[in-house]
Amino acid sequence: MIDLARAAIAATGAVMDATWATRVARVTTIDATMSATRAAIEGAIDDATLATTLAATWGVSVPIDDTRVSTYAAIDDAIRAVRRIHVWTLPKSVHRDDKTMIGLSRIHQIEVTTRCNLRCVYCPHPQMSRPKIDMDMATFGRALAWVRYFRVLGTQPELSLTGIGEGLLHPRIIEMMGMARDAIGDGMLLFATNGINMTSSMASGLRASNPIVYISLHRPEVAGPAIEACKSAGLRHVVNDQFATSAIDWAGQVDWHVSHRPQVCQYLAQGWGAVMVDGGITRCCMDSTGEGVYGHVNDEPSQLAVRPFVLCRSCSLTVPG
Ligand code: SF4
Ligand code: SF4
Repeated sequence: MIDLARAAIAATGAVMDATWATRVARVTTIDATMSATRAAIEGAIDDATLATTLAATWGVSVPIDDTRVSTYAAIDDAIRAVRRIHVWTLPKSVHRDDKTMIGLSRIHQIEVTTRCNLRCVYCPHPQMSRPKIDMDMATFGRALAWVRYFRVLGTQPELSLTGIGEGLLHPRIIEMMGMARDAIGDGMLLFATNGINMTSSMASGLRASNPIVYISLHRPEVAGPAIEACKSAGLRHVVNDQFATSAIDWAGQVDWHVSHRPQVCQYLAQGWGAVMVDGGITRCCMDSTGEGVYGHVNDEPSQLAVRPFVLCRSCSLTVPG
C-alpha cells in the first residue's frame, strides 16, 4: 500500500515537474527579452531617442528630465510595471527574484478555528471582527491538498495548525492532526495552544501524529499542567514565551511592545501563505481582518502570487526589497 502511494506521488511529481519546467522556461524567456531591451534602452542614446524608444517598447510615456539618473529610475518603474503584468498573466508566478511578488510556495499555517477561551491583551483576537467559527472538514481537506501539492514540489517542509484562535477547541482536532501528518509526511508538524484543553487524553490522542506542540505561557497555572500532560504522553513540546520576550504588536493592531530581533518577513521572502478558517488564502499570520486574502483553497494553487499588502506598512518585520 505504501509502495503504491509512493509510486502515485512520484508519478504526480513527474507531471508537476514537467509543468513547472515549462512555466519556468516561459518566464525565463520573458526575462531575457526584457533584459535585452533594457540594456538597449540604457545605452548611450540621447534623451529624445530614449523617449521615443520607451514609448515604442513599453507603450508608456516616461517623462525625460535633465538627469539621466531620474530617467533610469523611471525606466525601472516602467519595466517593473510591464514585468508585473507578465507575471500576473502567467499560469504560475515563478519570479523568485522579483522583490515585490513571488509565487506561493508553501502553506505555512492553517487556522483550524477562530474561537478562543482566553482574552490576551497582546493578541488581536478579542477585537477581531471575523466570525468565531471552526473550520469545516471539507475546507481542511482542500487546504491539505495544497500542502500535498507543495510537498511534491519540494517547497513544503513544514506545516503549522495555528491561527488566531485556540486550536484545541476544535472538536475534531485529533483527527485533523492525523490528516495533517498524512499530508506533510516526514516533515515538521507544529501546533500552538494556550494549554487549557491539553488534558492527558488530549495529549495521548495527539501523540499518534507526533507534532511539536508550542505551549504558550499566557496563563502559567494552566500551562504548567499542560506541559506535564505532554511529558506523560511523550508529546514533543516547546514552552513559548515569545509574546513577552520576542514581542510583536501585530503590525500595529494591538497596543503592545515590540522586542523581536530585526528579521525579514519569510511570507514575502519565500512565498509562504496562510489558510484562514473559511478557506481564504491570506498573506500572513498577522492578518486578523482578512484584508490580505488573495485566494481560496478552492482555487488552483499555481495561480497565486504573494506580495505586500496594507499591513506591511506598519509591520515590525522587514519587507524584502
Ligand atoms: S494569544 Fe492565543 S490564547 Fe491568547 S487570545 Fe490570542 S488566540 Fe487566544
Ligand atoms: S504584515 Fe507584511 S511584513 Fe508583516 S508578516 Fe505580514 S506579510 Fe510579512
